[in-house]
Formats: sequence, C-alpha cells, structure tokens
Amino acid sequence: MISKESVAGGLALLAMVGCGGLLDRPEAASGPAAAGAKRPKNVVFIVIDTLRADAMSLARTPNLRKLKAQGQSPALAWSGATWTVPSVISMFTGAPVRAHGWDFPFPRFMDMSKETYAPAPALPMLAEVLKGAGYHTVSFHNNSMLNQGLGLDRGFDAWNPTGDRNLARKLGEEVDEWDDPGDLTGRPNFVYVHLLGPHHPLRPSPKACRRWGIRPKQVAQTRGLHIEDAQQGDEDDQDLYRRGYYASVEDTDRVLGAVLEALGEHRENSLVVLTSDHGELLGEHGLVGHEQWVFEPLTRVPLIVTGTDLTLPPIMNNTMIPDLVTQSLGIDHDWPVKLNDPLPLVAQRQGKVALSPDGKIKGIWDDEAFGAGFSSFDISQSTAEDAPLARLPFPHADAKLRMSRGAWALRVPGRRLAPVGKAMTDELQEALEALGYMGAEDPLPTEPGEAAEPEGAEAADGG
Ligand SMILES: [Zn+2]
Repeated sequence: MISKESVAGGLALLAMVGCGGLLDRPEAASGPAAAGAKRPKNVVFIVIDTLRADAMSLARTPNLRKLKAQGQSPALAWSGATWTVPSVISMFTGAPVRAHGWDFPFPRFMDMSKETYAPAPALPMLAEVLKGAGYHTVSFHNNSMLNQGLGLDRGFDAWNPTGDRNLARKLGEEVDEWDDPGDLTGRPNFVYVHLLGPHHPLRPSPKACRRWGIRPKQVAQTRGLHIEDAQQGDEDDQDLYRRGYYASVEDTDRVLGAVLEALGEHRENSLVVLTSDHGELLGEHGLVGHEQWVFEPLTRVPLIVTGTDLTLPPIMNNTMIPDLVTQSLGIDHDWPVKLNDPLPLVAQRQGKVALSPDGKIKGIWDDEAFGAGFSSFDISQSTAEDAPLARLPFPHADAKLRMSRGAWALRVPGRRLAPVGKAMTDELQEALEALGYMGAEDPLPTEPGEAAEPEGAEAADGG
C-alpha cells in the first residue's frame, strides 16, 4: 500500500537528499529511548566482512553464539548491498543504495583505464553525527576498499587500518585510554571494528584446518585458498573452498572473542552492534564469491545487538543501524531509513534489486539471472531460490511484490552518482593484485597459521 505517510516521508526525504540538507547536528536527547531509559555510554559497531547468516550455526562459533544469547537479533536481517563499499556506505549513512547512489561495479569489472571511483555522497555519516554529539570516534578496520578516498573516514578522530590478528590488541590499547568504566559522565566513545574475517583469500589456521579436513600444508603451499580456484574448478574445488570458509569463520570467532574481551568492563555500559556487510555464495546456483548477484546467501547477514533498551523489529535491513544507534543513545537524528520504517527489505547490486516486503516472499529483478521482469521466491521455508513461484497459485505474491517495489521507489528517491576524475591509484591496483582481483600472481605477505602478525603488518584487502 502507498500510504499518505509514505508519500510524505518520500517527499521529505527527497527534499533532504536533494538539498544535501541532512547535515544537522544532533540536538538534545529526545526520541523513544529517552524518558528515563538507561542508555549505553559507548558504542561498539562490529562488522565481520563476508559473514553469511548461517555461518554461526554451521561453524563452531562460541563467541558469536554467546553474544547472540546476551542480546537481541531480528528473525531475518539483510545487508543493503552485496559488496563492501556500497554496503558500508548504507550502514554509515542509513541510506539504501538507491538513495546514496554508490552502485559501481566491483573493481575487477571496472575499466581500469577510466576514472572509476566517485566519492561517497554528501549524506551525514554515523561517526559525524556521534562526533557532533561529543563522542570520541575511532576505527580499526581491515579492508583496503575502505581506504580509497571515498570519504568513509568522515567523522572519525582516528581511522586505523589494522589486520585482524592485531585488532584486539590495538583496541585494548585504545580502551585503556578511556575514562574509568564507572564514570558514566566522562567522554563517550564510538569504535568501528571491521574484520576481514572469511573474505578470500582464506588462510585458516592449522587448528581450524584440522577441524574441517583441510591439510594445513595445502594452504601454506598455495598461500591461501583462492576463490578463483573454486570459481573455475569443479565441485571438489568448491567443497574445499566451502570448508576453508567455515574454518576461517571459526578463526574469526576467536578474534571476535578477543575483541569483546578487550572492551573489559566497558562492555557493561556499551551498545554493541554486530553484523556483516554481505554474505558469500558457496556453491549455490553454481557460484562462489560475492560478485554481481542478490541471492539469499549474499543478502542474509547476522545482526546482533546488546545494550539497548529498544526492541528490534522482526525483520531488519542493516541500513537501519544508524537509527538504532542514535535512538538507543537518545540522540535525535533524522536518518533516511528508520528502525521502525514500514519499508521492505531491499538489497541492490549494479541495478539488480532484491526485495521482500515481509521476509517470506522475495522478488529478484535480475535480467542476467532470470530474464526481464522479476522472479518471486518463497524464502520462508528454503533459501535455495531454485524454484520461482508459479504465477498460479500464487498470483497474490507477485502483486504484493510489485506494489511493494512501487511504494519503496516512491518513498526512497533515486540518486545516481557520476564517476569523477579520480583514477585508480597505483596503491589500490597493487592491493587488488595482491587479492587476485586483477589477475596477477598472488604475493601475499603472510603465511597461514596462528602466529601473530608482525607489528605494522598492513591491513588486508577486500571487497
Ligand atoms: Zn565486504
């Protein structure tokens, strides 16, 4: 249904986006979390790159499970995009890809001779809003795509590329500088933690290799398990990569445990939000990786929240996270997407759209996969997306999807960013080559294993 409210909201958003007028600084505490609610003091926002929603149950992940048991999770959460840059922009700005407009192809598919990157749009970002409210804002992140001059560091007092294995220690050093945990009136802190986690190339530890039937020597000899081998190989290659993925999830869970441990007593007065920027295909539809698709293994991500008095809605886009954070803190800010917006779940990728109004039926607009128009699936029972609903006996599903997409398009004005004159830098090209994105040999600097990274090791790269 297109309600008067949604039209008014759409027009209001249009006005704000069109004028670049979302730059207001937060004002005095107000909103639903006010009125005597116990508010968290600090905010810890953790993104584990490339983490499928089902990884938590398919791999041994005691720290993820414990965090989930301590907090809340919606029954279903989606990322707003299926690769790092547009997804992180959505999680920082509270704007769907359609509204922020950064929907460029993955670097491998860009024409390297042309200008490729546009800056992030002039929408206020979570760190800017929190900094404006008096927060000390710091990141520890491990994905070089975040360091390409896209403006993702806006609002951060310190923006620190940090390898996964050093991250907990560096976070601990940061937390040591915070006011005493019992001092609730001192300077509040916002930390953004972005682990590369199970992003390729996979270098699972010997311990995780043993659990998943992988010979550690095999990983050492090939300097990691490479996604290209799984994409170009047979089912055995895909199976090896799948096991390597879950082994890497288990290593990442141990890193997560150390990250949470590093917060010490500050955990008790912190809002902790954990999610992923997108999932990963591990053989579904014959595909491996997170390239140009919007299938369920890519759109469905974990979302865990501890330390808020708010009650999460049953289905959430992680684009709602900025509003979740500021509402939990009692900071008034008008994000493009709000926690309780009656918007459908939406994920986008290079013009392709996945949309679900209720978390049960899902429409995919993807000419490449399904031809013109859209295909509808029942994702409440199975995430296989291998049997499109027939027009009969489900005509209502298609009508519902069509109407939902129309209402969404009205509510969320489209924006298209033009590429700007900023060529791919040598530094980024080298970083992408190191990942195999550019088809070069893989000069990875570290061996797999559980030894700590050498001091000063550069953060890894990813998409
Ligand atoms: Zn990513």
